[in-house]
Formats: sequence, structure tokens, C-alpha cells
Amino acid sequence: MRIDVVTIFPEYLDPLRHALLGKAIEQGKLQVGVHDLRQWANDGHKSVDDSPYGGGPGMVMKPEVWGPALDDVAAGRTATRELDSSLPHLNRPRHDEVEGIVAQPYGAPAQGVAQELEENLPLLIVPTPAGTPFTQADARAWSREEHVVFACGRYEGIDQRVIEDAAQRYRVREVSIGDYVLIGGEVAALVISEAIVRLIPGVLGNQRSHEEDSFSDGLLEGPSYTKPREWRGLSVPEVLTSGDHGRVDRWRHEQSLLRTAQRRPELLESAELSRSDREFLEKERGGA
Ligand code: SAM
Repeated sequence: MRIDVVTIFPEYLDPLRHALLGKAIEQGKLQVGVHDLRQWANDGHKSVDDSPYGGGPGMVMKPEVWGPALDDVAAGRTATRELDSSLPHLNRPRHDEVEGIVAQPYGAPAQGVAQELEENLPLLIVPTPAGTPFTQADARAWSREEHVVFACGRYEGIDQRVIEDAAQRYRVREVSIGDYVLIGGEVAALVISEAIVRLIPGVLGNQRSHEEDSFSDGLLEGPSYTKPREWRGLSVPEVLTSGDHGRVDRWRHEQSLLRTAQRRPELLESAELSRSDREFLEKERGGA
């Protein structure tokens, strides 16, 4: 996968060189280019924003700067700062990495997605609080992309015509990472990149890590524990040290159901629940 980020704060994207993303860069599974938007600004002050039509506070990012920037990045016509990995990771496998694991691609993409991928246009992600919510399902779908470009807005955001026009060269998605307002799109680009890249086959050493994560089955993951068995008077739940894998799996699933019911009950409406899941939740509600 190639990720390009267009921003007025290139240094903000430095975390993309670290940890698993840095390792993916070393492994040749990921390339990252960061582009300073101001290189496309054409006045003496290198300005990228102007006052909004219709009045009101704040500034809006200019189409004459963003348009050529996105044209050049789509066409690969730009001098770019390529990120290298922050540290050599390749010879330091994590202790939970499975020896000889074979990277498995996910099942075939849904028909609409497959058609879009065939059209071969890069995916342009425009972070905005007014976008559709970014989800794990998006992360999974976008982990198959070859070329993802982020347009990081600042101030009041980017002139909307830039997003309309970009649809000629990109598949465009305006997405929000949550119901709050950040100062700029860079942090959102980091969040979305992490969520996508960890799902590229082979990036996580142990594939089970993401198969059991929150949202992969529509539920939140339950609590985790490690050694020691006793800590500050608190014990690890007995079942986890029983050695009975069937009981452990059942307990984990029940914890996942309980946590979802307590913290994100709306997720239960769309999760695929078995009859015994429903009975378990009913019983817990009755007992509460
Ligand atoms: N005026 C915009 C509005 O109310 O929708 C907010 C602009 S915000 C101050 C500046 C930039 O931060 C946005 O263009 C976007 O790139 C980014 N941003 C802020 N909140 C975000 C969120 N929840 N999700 C994704 N991007 C966000």
C-alpha cells in the first residue's frame, strides 16, 4: 500500500514511521509520502486560506492550492518526503509472533468494492467532523487499497469544490473519526492510517490479534490480564488460569457480551447474536 498525506504541517505525520507502521515500511508492505501543501501556493506569502464567502468567522482553504496538489499527488508527479522507519524492527520479532505465519488476504471484497478497486482510482480520504463515521468495516475494506491519499484540512476546512472536483481523479470519502472537533485533519489521518495498516495481511505477526479485537464480530472485546496472578490484592479471574480452553473461550465471549451491553448497547442491535447469547443477556438483565 502507498499512503500520501497532504498537509501544512508535515512534521505532524512523523508517528507514521514508528512501531508497526515503521515495520511495515521496512518490510516493503507500506510506503508513505508526506507533502507540504504550501509548495502549491502561488503567492509571495505561500497562503493557503482566504475568508469565507457569505461572511462568518475563520478562514477556508483555497481551491487554487488544493486542486493542483491533489492532481499532482494522484499522478505521482510530486517531489515527496518519503518516510523511513524510525527504528530497525525487522530482526526483533514480538514475542507473540507466530513462527512461519502465512499472510492471508481477506475473503473476496463485496461486489461494489471490487468494481471500485478495478477502476484503479486512488482513494482520497478527507477527514472532516461533517463526514460519515469511520468504522472498523471501513478500515477492513481500505486495507485492500493500493493507493490512499489524505487531504488534511485546517481552519474551517477545505473549499467544497475541491472535494467535488477530486472525484474525477479519486474515489472520495469524507469521514469523521468522532463527534468532536479537532484543530486539523492530521490526527485523523494518523488514526485512520493505523487502523488500516494493521489489517494489511502480514503486518500483525499474529493474525488472531485482530480477529479477536473489538468490532471484528460487532462486539467490544472483554478485559485482558497478564502475570502476576495476584496484584495489590486483586486476582486474575480463576477461569483464565484453569487451563480449560473451552471455559476460557466461553467466559471471554460472555465478558464481551456484558461489556457491550453496559457500554455500547446499540451495537447489540446489529451484532449477530446466537440464541444462547440472547438468553445469557436476558439472564444478566434479570439479575441486575
Ligand atoms: N468547520 C468545520 C466543521 O464544523 O465541520 C470544522 C473544521 S476543523 C476546526 C478543521 C479540520 O480538522 C477539518 O477540516 C478536518 O480536517 C479536521 N477535523 C476536525 N474534527 C474532525 C473529526 N471529528 N474527524 C475528522 N477530521 C476532523
